[in-house]
Amino acid sequence: MTDTPSFIECENLVKIYKVADLEVVALQGVDLRIAQGEMMALVGPSGSGKSTLMNILGGLDTPTAGRVTVGENNLLDLNRREQVIYRRREVGFVWQQTARNLLTYLSAIENVELPMALDGVGAGERRQRAQQLLEQVGLGHRLTHRPDRLSGGEQQRVAIAVAMANRPRLLLADEPTGEVDSEAAEQIYKTLRDFNREAGVTIIIVTHDMTVSTRVDRVVGMRDGRTSIEILRRRDEGGQTLSEDEYVILDRAGRLQLPQAYIDKLGMEERARVRLQQDHIGVYPDREGSNDR
Ligand code: ADP
Repeated sequence: MTDTPSFIECENLVKIYKVADLEVVALQGVDLRIAQGEMMALVGPSGSGKSTLMNILGGLDTPTAGRVTVGENNLLDLNRREQVIYRRREVGFVWQQTARNLLTYLSAIENVELPMALDGVGAGERRQRAQQLLEQVGLGHRLTHRPDRLSGGEQQRVAIAVAMANRPRLLLADEPTGEVDSEAAEQIYKTLRDFNREAGVTIIIVTHDMTVSTRVDRVVGMRDGRTSIEILRRRDEGGQTLSEDEYVILDRAGRLQLPQAYIDKLGMEERARVRLQQDHIGVYPDREGSNDR
């Protein structure tokens, strides 16, 4: 990841929600870099901050502190008008619920045309592109169907076509397969991967589903408003997996988050001994007087 310039950079990103007199820290200093053209997933338990991070990257919410850039856009600096343009041109969204993705009284093709109409694209051009996008997602035979006449998986593929309408560089998908069966999920992932390969769009998928690691290049785990583990998958040119490795994330301040299971296994608390070895660093429980070498 280090040899490719980062498309997305989050540095010490903090988001605090104020609810009455209470402060909820949804993100507690997230450091994350995502390369242009990457297809990655954010996983983690409910409440870990995944949606908050997505909303910030999508220009739907602003962080409380830290730094976040997407391409040349500094998301802390955008004014209202720039935010609207950013959301319309630079990002596509796919949500779990159809009602959030599609207007129920418009046909599939009209739904795909809508973001282009809002961006001032002429009628002929947008009809042609909408048709082409729907063909690309395998729904060329469903152009005039309304969402309620499509299956859940088909609705999500129309939603992907809508999200891609204005050729965004970033596609954010929040639980895109949350309400469909495994066969439809397969097709949704394939459609996302096709756009990633053909249009070079960077894709971030938020999910509870750890099996997503087989579909993406990298999985970043979130826990308590921070990134925790990372799973990297290396593939050959034909897309076959060569290796899958699990990492903990090393942030800019040199902090590592150890897997909870390891901490529990060794009964570690409060502090650990750290020893530099020839080619690795040893982390030991701090047991007074124990010979932990
Ligand atoms: P996830 O997507 O991983 O389930 P969220 O980003 O939705 O996590 O939430 C992270 C934390 O922030 C949770 O404690 C949640 O209750 C809180 N939170 C999220 N959105 C809001 C909001 N609009 N107002 C107050 N608290 C919020």
